[in-house]
Amino acid sequence: MIDDPLVKQLLINVVEDESNLPIVKALNDGIETDEEIANETGIKLNIVRKILYRLYDMGIASYKRSKDPETQWFTYSWKFESEEVINRINKDSEKYLEMLNEELEREENNMFFVCPQGHVRLDFDESSDYDFMCPACGEELEFQDNTQTIEQIKEDIKMVESNFNSFNEKNK
Ligand SMILES: [Zn+2]
Repeated sequence: MIDDPLVKQLLINVVEDESNLPIVKALNDGIETDEEIANETGIKLNIVRKILYRLYDMGIASYKRSKDPETQWFTYSWKFESEEVINRINKDSEKYLEMLNEELEREENNMFFVCPQGHVRLDFDESSDYDFMCPACGEELEFQDNTQTIEQIKEDIKMVESNFNSFNEKNK
């Protein structure tokens, strides 16, 4: 599951650096304590702890606390919450697709004008409010052909949909 591109992307955002991913992998393999994870991965204990709490903050990991009857010390047994990862990816993908579709609609239904100096990009109504002059530098705005932008958004939508579908296939 961790090798799925969407899962990987989500986890890298949480653990900050790809080099911390083995912590999640160890957790997913059922290794429960921070010390065992540190031993297994060779990653420093304080980093393992930091990452575990980050995962916990995101709801991607949980822990149970128990007291060792001999030493009276507390032990934390950690668990990877794969259901929460699936929920989160579903939610994020839907939100992202919604955003891309809105962007596509806006690009398809508008004409855009840009400042030749790169200050602004405005739709027709906004541009006429400024008499087709850049509000930052006063230069005349130029019409921008947005065919490529539209194609790019369509490509992005296709890619997100296909990643999302293959993710759902694997995690039914
Ligand atoms: Zn300008």
